[in-house]
Amino acid sequence: MPIATIDPTDGRVLKTFEPLSEARIEAALIRATDGFAALRAASFEQRATWLRAAADILDAERDEIARTMTVEMGKTLVAAKAEVAKCAVACRYYAKNAAAFLADEPTDPAAVKARQAFVRYQPLGPVLAVMPWNFPLWQAMRFAAPALMAGNAGLLKHASNVPQTALFMEQLFRRAGFPEGSFQTLLIGSGQVEAVLSDSRVVAATLTGSEGAGRSIAAIAGRELKKTVLELGGSDPFVVLPSADIARAAAVAVTARCQNNGQSCIAAKRFIVHTDVYEAFATAFVERMAALTVGDPMDEKTDVGPLATEQGRADVVELVQDAVERGATVLCGGTVPDQPGWWYPPTVVADLTPEMRMYREEVFGPVAGLYRVDSYEEAIEVANGTDFGLGSNVWTTDPAEQERAIGDLEAGAVFVNGMVTSYPELPFGGIKTSGYGRELSAQGIREFCNVKTVWVGSEPSAAASAPHTE
Ligand code: NAP
Repeated sequence: MPIATIDPTDGRVLKTFEPLSEARIEAALIRATDGFAALRAASFEQRATWLRAAADILDAERDEIARTMTVEMGKTLVAAKAEVAKCAVACRYYAKNAAAFLADEPTDPAAVKARQAFVRYQPLGPVLAVMPWNFPLWQAMRFAAPALMAGNAGLLKHASNVPQTALFMEQLFRRAGFPEGSFQTLLIGSGQVEAVLSDSRVVAATLTGSEGAGRSIAAIAGRELKKTVLELGGSDPFVVLPSADIARAAAVAVTARCQNNGQSCIAAKRFIVHTDVYEAFATAFVERMAALTVGDPMDEKTDVGPLATEQGRADVVELVQDAVERGATVLCGGTVPDQPGWWYPPTVVADLTPEMRMYREEVFGPVAGLYRVDSYEEAIEVANGTDFGLGSNVWTTDPAEQERAIGDLEAGAVFVNGMVTSYPELPFGGIKTSGYGRELSAQGIREFCNVKTVWVGSEPSAAASAPHTE
């Protein structure tokens, strides 16, 4: 894939970038090593000051960076502005809480025959972050904010279609005052990732993206014995049971499916509805999906913009076609408009069966699969019937059913009577082929730390009681 800004509304190439040469990658790795040393030596307070400065820049320049994201990948400007604001919140959250998350954790010294015993969290070094284009600022920020607060340096290999957003990230942290080399953007293609990850100066990697990319990163990291966190695809179930508030469920379902033009890992993709409320839900849902405004993402009235890439749109077309050829019914949408750019309308497909690809695969566009089930048990069976396990939604007002579903749904998150979303305060990640490890919250910042056991014997030791900054 060329590294370029291509306007998805009409397919025009607006700006291209040369991938970094080996010599420039080497210079970046040297800077990352130095940046890590400087960051590691800085106090939590100092790092927090820099991160708050980054949040202030994001707030001040929200509209400008939002426009860059919209131009590069087609999300609505309204959504892009909200994304920038969310990034500022995450920066302030980690600036405020990182020291407490990474404070020494004492244990009972008598139990381990010590004078003093505790766990200390220390940074690991430069971490490679391979990131996707769908939330170009947020995905990278939810890695960067905790990583920098922990004292790790960041090397960002962003998706090839969002180079300007990627370059903004590097400038952001530099302008905020972080030491040179703390956070760098490497404009490289995916073929150059192996060499960077294999370099001994890069100690770990995190990838948010597709299953294929995840397997590739995990294989390289496995060979090199480096820690990884993988945030991969999802095909979240949205289970609607008879006691649910159907009108509300249908309204939220539309947002849950079409947010970010349908290109979110945690979008609800499979709507699994009990037969008692199927007609009512389907009618309300299809009506709302068909009523969405598709158009210029810069326009405040637009609900759904274009898909981000030509290939992404082709993948969506293929999955819907496969389902239709095997007997599925299109309740709305399903036709590619005859115009330049990578448009695809909000679409609902019903009568899906296991031999159709849509039954198991992720549709990364505004296409909902609708399933009718006869019982709670069947709903859970369909919900768990994919290899993914990222988020899940269940709609029921019955407390016993809620409790049961929380236990039964195979996913990294269960949202009851609400839409799956991410909060800095809650861990985020998946199981099964949706990946492993967690981002955000205390769990997220500890992923790239050495969890060091410290045991101090009977002789008093000045070193063990000295205050630390990592
Ligand atoms: P993608 O093709 O996997 O790309 C993601 C990133 O990985 C890009 O930077 C890409 O670089 C790079 N990449 C691709 N193949 C690679 C390889 N073999 N080795 C190393 N790097 C590689 O994914 P996408 O199509 O952009 O994003 C959509 C997918 O991401 C969906 O499956 C979605 O569900 C998932 N996603 C998951 C989460 C989560 O938190 N779980 C969040 C958002 C998205 P290039 O651009 O240069 O190819």
